[in-house]
Amino acid sequence: MSVLVYAESSEGKFKKIAFETVSYGKKVAELLETSLSVVTINANNVSSLSDYGAQKIITVNNDKLNTFNAKAYADVLKQVAEKESANIVIIDSSNNGLYLAPLLAVNLEAGYASNVVEAPSSISPFTVKRKAFSNKAFNTTEIKTDKKVIGLAKNSFGLVENKSTATEETFSPTLTDGDFNINSTSVDKAKGKITIADADIVVSGGRGLKGPENWGMIEELADVLGAATACSKPVSDLGWRPHSEHVGQTGKPVASNLYIAIGISGAIQHLAGINSSKVKVVINNDPEAPFFKAADYGIVGDAFEVVPKLIEKLKEF
Ligand code: FAD
Repeated sequence: MSVLVYAESSEGKFKKIAFETVSYGKKVAELLETSLSVVTINANNVSSLSDYGAQKIITVNNDKLNTFNAKAYADVLKQVAEKESANIVIIDSSNNGLYLAPLLAVNLEAGYASNVVEAPSSISPFTVKRKAFSNKAFNTTEIKTDKKVIGLAKNSFGLVENKSTATEETFSPTLTDGDFNINSTSVDKAKGKITIADADIVVSGGRGLKGPENWGMIEELADVLGAATACSKPVSDLGWRPHSEHVGQTGKPVASNLYIAIGISGAIQHLAGINSSKVKVVINNDPEAPFFKAADYGIVGDAFEVVPKLIEKLKEF
């Protein structure tokens, strides 16, 4: 029996969430008194995974898998899970992970719990804590099946350094044309842009910015910080920004380390989608704006004065 983690990478580079998922996998393996195997697909620098507890690193390299395809990836992970006799497979909750995990669960005839935020509180029965209702509530779920797929919520467990000695091996999966007959590829990443799902920092603009012509300073601030850009619903409804940037209850969820909201009032539907972010900063000229109650830091001021000064200061670093 072993625990298997899928360490997600993009263009060969591990995402931060990959290390978080390995950290979590190590904890689960310790609880089960078993070893931790980690599988990678077309990733570089795989030995870095041993810093977070990987004991066996299985690398899959295949040009057909250069672009994420949920069906093909789920088939590969099934083959690796079976080879490793893994009872528990852990996958992150990135956009790709959310697509991949249920497919894998079906392939393995496993029970699946998404949005898991903690290590299992009990092994027998096997129970995990999950977030629900836009992070307003938690529930405890028991997975009764022998095989289990766990979807780890982003920014829930954190990085835990746990240096291990890891063996490395390669695995050549059997791929069929059927693996590629659904076009389940990742589509939301414009070349060179950081996606909201992958971003550590998100800079988000609201109707307070008055119009699309003023987004230059939002993009500049995002560039300086290495951040993704996002917006409130009315901004995308008005066509100022693409719908892919709309965050909130009816948009994308954000679980970044830092979320900077500029000219956004802080309506409950907006906050519902961003309250998993660790640190929230608001810039708004109305001291009564509801966002100030939800934020960790706030600047009461005109965005058109504050943001250029912020960019200027940050450029000094
Ligand atoms: P506004 O409410 O107009 O706020 C603009 C803010 O900018 C104000 O606080 C103002 O003080 C400030 N401001 C103005 N000028 C400046 C300046 N010069 N400098 C600094 N600040 C300034 N909204 C979402 O965002 N995401 C969702 O997923 C979502 N889903 C919804 C689902 C439903 C069913 C419903 C009914 C609504 C939903 N909404 C959603 C809409 C939500 O209720 C709000 O209307 C919306 O979030 C407001 O967007 P806003 O803060 O950009 O605009």
